[in-house]
Amino acid sequence: MDNQLPIEPAAPAQRNTLQAQVRWGDHVVTVGGDAPVRVQSMTNTDTVDAIGTAIQVKELALAGSELVRITVNTPEAAQAVPYIREQLDRMGVDVPLIGDFHYNGHRLLTDVPACAEALSKYRINPGNVGKGDKRDKQFAQMIEAAIRWNKPVRIGVNWGSLDQELLAGMMDENSRRATPWGAKSVMYEALITSAIESAHRAEEIGLASNQILLSCKVSGVQDLISVYRALAKRCNYPLHLGLTEAGMGTKGTVASAAALGVLLQDGIGDTIRVSLTPQPGESRTQEVVIASEILQSLGLRSFVPSVTACPGCGRTTSTTFQELTKQIDDFLRAQMPVWRERYPGVETMKVAVMGCIVNGPGESKHADIGISLPGTGEAPAAPVYIDGEKSVTLRGENIAQEFHAIVENYIEKRFGAANTATV
Ligand code: SF4
Repeated sequence: MDNQLPIEPAAPAQRNTLQAQVRWGDHVVTVGGDAPVRVQSMTNTDTVDAIGTAIQVKELALAGSELVRITVNTPEAAQAVPYIREQLDRMGVDVPLIGDFHYNGHRLLTDVPACAEALSKYRINPGNVGKGDKRDKQFAQMIEAAIRWNKPVRIGVNWGSLDQELLAGMMDENSRRATPWGAKSVMYEALITSAIESAHRAEEIGLASNQILLSCKVSGVQDLISVYRALAKRCNYPLHLGLTEAGMGTKGTVASAAALGVLLQDGIGDTIRVSLTPQPGESRTQEVVIASEILQSLGLRSFVPSVTACPGCGRTTSTTFQELTKQIDDFLRAQMPVWRERYPGVETMKVAVMGCIVNGPGESKHADIGISLPGTGEAPAAPVYIDGEKSVTLRGENIAQEFHAIVENYIEKRFGAANTATV
């Protein structure tokens, strides 16, 4: 026993140290280094529909997205960008907008200066900036626009649109190796080379190193882990992380959480996006909810009070416990846009809703506020624990409503202005 070392709590590894600042007006979102890992999202509206896009950007921002990307694919879309920005400013939404450019970004950023100015960051895909001789010139035009308007750039490589000339050259080179690499290894190398060489070219043109972010997105979990581990070792730029085309529903959610969880724990990733295909009728904000949950589950950020609940089992007597868990979770999430301002720190609160006496009191004591509902054969009583101490026992038909009121009261007391003023 004497030779045993203490088991230290797990913690994410150190991240790359370069930091970029993404600004709109006085609002600055620092990305990279010791800044919090940022949540990013992307609209799926037609950017030409400026009002519809501004409304969706506002929804995403209220859900917790700290950066929002919009498609800028045509002159009409580019002309709509300053109008979208104006609408957001009028609504008091200062979230920075990122322009997503492919094929014609060099022209749009040059021909529509108001668009270049209204965006806070440009995403450039080096696989989609042009072919042959035009490639370097068009890439340079975009970087020059970033320098002129003092905007950071994400060089965003994607294996669905990887620079085919670069890949072909690397495949040829590989075939001349004494022991050729596997096709996947060549693909990984091409993704990383495309990102890093483009970043170096941008620096040669004059873009500061702290105005550059990189990403190399692929759609396979193990592929993403392999690529980002190598990318993080080979550069010090902030990295945008996401499993591209993650898919829909449970598949997209789980695949993204699995891939991002491993990498974030490795200290890799400074902004994240969950590329979820919305279910028919599902809000676009779901991708923000999942990205936030990934960061909160890893203990990297706090966005909304967390609800710990047991899964229920044969000891659970009724659906009351499931209903109460859902009600509390929905209530806490719905309040957050207002509570962020009114109750600073409330996002770190932990609530427990448990189904019986086996783990109920213990888990409830670990939470800030917890309730242990009666299981099979137990007295019809639900003890409530506040800050680790048993506070009250609820009975009867209105347990849910009474617990709800207790939670609200606790929040007001602990995080409200009166409390903050006396601290
Ligand atoms: S706390 Fe009780 S009801 Fe919940 S899973 Fe454990 S034994 Fe089952």
